[in-house]
Amino acid sequence: MSSAVEDVVIVGAGLTGLLLARELHKKGRRPVLLEKSRGAGGRMSTKRVEGAVFDQGAQFFTARTPRFAAEIEAWCEAGVAAPWPDGAPYRYVGRPAMNAVGKHLSAGLEVRREAKVLAVKRNAEAWEITVENQPALHARELVLTAPVPQSLALLAAGDVVLPADLAAELRGLDYHPCLALMLTLAETSALPAGGLAPDDGGPVRWIADNTKKGVSPGTSSAVTVHLAPAFSEENYGRTEAEVLALVSPLITPWLGAAVTGVAMHRWRYSEPKTRHCEPCVWRPDLRLGIAGDAIGGPRVEGAATSAFALADRMAGEGSSAREVGT
Ligand SMILES: Cc1cc2nc3c(=O)[nH]c(=O)nc-3n(C[C@H](O)[C@H](O)[C@H](O)COP(=O)(O)OP(=O)(O)OC[C@H]3O[C@@H](n4cnc5c(N)ncnc54)[C@H](O)[C@@H]3O)c2cc1C
Repeated sequence: MSSAVEDVVIVGAGLTGLLLARELHKKGRRPVLLEKSRGAGGRMSTKRVEGAVFDQGAQFFTARTPRFAAEIEAWCEAGVAAPWPDGAPYRYVGRPAMNAVGKHLSAGLEVRREAKVLAVKRNAEAWEITVENQPALHARELVLTAPVPQSLALLAAGDVVLPADLAAELRGLDYHPCLALMLTLAETSALPAGGLAPDDGGPVRWIADNTKKGVSPGTSSAVTVHLAPAFSEENYGRTEAEVLALVSPLITPWLGAAVTGVAMHRWRYSEPKTRHCEPCVWRPDLRLGIAGDAIGGPRVEGAATSAFALADRMAGEGSSAREVGT
């Protein structure tokens, strides 16, 4: 093995990967994050369309556990998060937009962007990580934080065989898709500042005005619409114009102004349908960790829970992670 063996490589610079990397860094480790996108933050993402700004994934995050609450307090002090504008308890938003959190957490870490991992292989001494259009990396320890089906595909591509019970559990974890419409309006919308979650079993899961939320500048509105799992599944292949035409009769009263622009993001892995029975997976025999919201619990806070649990496990301090093969 060459001397260029990294201490620990983390695949994915979403919240799980970033928080884990920071925790490991505090403990004197030297994590390298590989992220396929141009930016960090994963599903805590923000999109700019012709001057309008949209939080297109996570809309807000909650802080119910003391460790994550302390983390959010630090984000607020750094000016990259703030309480949700309508004063709902425990709810926070990214400032000036959701992607500020990922940018903030990346500072001081080695995050290699546009580094898409294609396969991970366990050799005798280390992990070999194949990255698209780049030289392979080697690492003593490896952590996968992409949505679980994507992480399993990386292991399969490197012929890594997990114990049958763990593999079956992980294969059983799936996610709902979500179509996210981003609409620019001619004027201010009729939506409340805190957004709306209709909860009526219909196609609209969530609708919020990024201008009223303080994310998008100006007075004309920039509205994010998240479509419900069943609707998103059924209409996943449709164009943005087709999707807008289908939901227009429902959302027009909330918008209260003409739509002047439409964009759409297709989230294949939006929220986990089920979750793993432990907050993280750590295999000491393989020096392999798996973490994320389908492991630690849904949403941003679940991703943080998984990252903290794995950091403790890897440092040998915690007892909450599952250890197999020791
Ligand atoms: C539409 C939508 C709405 C949501 N709303 C909320 C909400 O209001 N509140 C809330 O708390 N949560 C919400 N969530 C969920 C929340 O965003 C996630 O739970 C959380 O961000 C997951 O973080 P993560 O780091 O585990 O995963 P991710 O954010 O998915 O990070 C994984 C990272 O891995 C990268 N990656 C994947 N494959 C590879 C590869 N092969 N090579 C390199 N990198 C790779 C990805 O690009 C990504 O950056 C929402 C999610 C979506 C999609």
